[in-house]
Amino acid sequence: MTVMFQEPIAASDIKDKARSLGADLVGIADGHIMNAHPPNPRVLQTPERITDHDGDRCIVMAKRYSVGTTRLPRVDERHKYYNDELTLTELESISLEMVLWLEDRGYPAFIIPPTHVDPWVYFGEPDQHVETILSLTHAAVEAGLGTLGMAEQLITPEYGPRVLLTAVLTSAPVEADTKRTDALCLGASCGRCVQTCPADAVHHFERDWQACDTHRSPHGFRALADHLSRIIDEPDPAEKKKMLRSKDQFYIWQSMLRGAGVVTGCRRCQDVCPVGEDYTRLSDVLDDIPEATPEKADRAAAYYMAEQAGELPPSYHKAARWMGAFPSKD
Ligand code: SF4
Ligand code: SF4
Repeated sequence: MTVMFQEPIAASDIKDKARSLGADLVGIADGHIMNAHPPNPRVLQTPERITDHDGDRCIVMAKRYSVGTTRLPRVDERHKYYNDELTLTELESISLEMVLWLEDRGYPAFIIPPTHVDPWVYFGEPDQHVETILSLTHAAVEAGLGTLGMAEQLITPEYGPRVLLTAVLTSAPVEADTKRTDALCLGASCGRCVQTCPADAVHHFERDWQACDTHRSPHGFRALADHLSRIIDEPDPAEKKKMLRSKDQFYIWQSMLRGAGVVTGCRRCQDVCPVGEDYTRLSDVLDDIPEATPEKADRAAAYYMAEQAGELPPSYHKAARWMGAFPSKD
């Protein structure tokens, strides 16, 4: 496409359009900066790995979770999975409209969904965590939307971690945003995401993604593979038949219809985070953490002691660019 067919465009035009389409937050990351700072150098989640031509800018858009579903504290809450999936569907529509709007102005663009994993890094082991093609949480930090928290979740000033993300890559020549420098996470003096996690997957500025996936995607590919393996291994034909009609199978079928419980699931580490202007509407229900145990409390206390001694763990230093700086203890 040649320049003569391109309308002049500014970052503010893109942001106004995103908001008019229904995005709650929008920022624009510089694709070249993302190429220079891959969050996981082993997987290389960078725009240049996806496109040679249309990755100069990464437009990151966020939609908040509904307050009502966040106020449902149960982890295995299908209403939540379903509502979140609808929010994701809405984000997909917003992204598609954004792509078409950019292309009408002469700038090729395409969607990077938050759930699209890279098939080249799947090696036949359903239990293994597979990375997405681009990490939208890291892209959101580069786009100035927030910083990463203790569970490596994106935290925004407006909604804390209670947002879903989508992104659009394009080379429209607009100004990019810059990332925040200071951490929004309150560190181990809070530690609420450590205390709540049902999979015990939240460590000191690090998440055990493999453990998390069992709850984050409770009826996903791993659950399907395990369920089918159990059926194949069952020697009794009557029992086999029963398993085909079981609740497990029903959940998998229902989840496949919409992705509820596959691309959505547990988000307790997002729900209970006290950061975000929206938390005042949630605290009456979420202040209490029923999953807290003395063991988790001890771990959070150890993290706190380390921070007080000015010792942040290697996991923090590895991701400090996206976590942001904590006030010095001096
Ligand atoms: S999504 Fe759930 S299982 Fe995963 S880290 Fe957060 S609280 Fe833990
Ligand atoms: S819950 Fe507390 S420790 Fe966890 S991310 Fe939020 S502010 Fe940080």
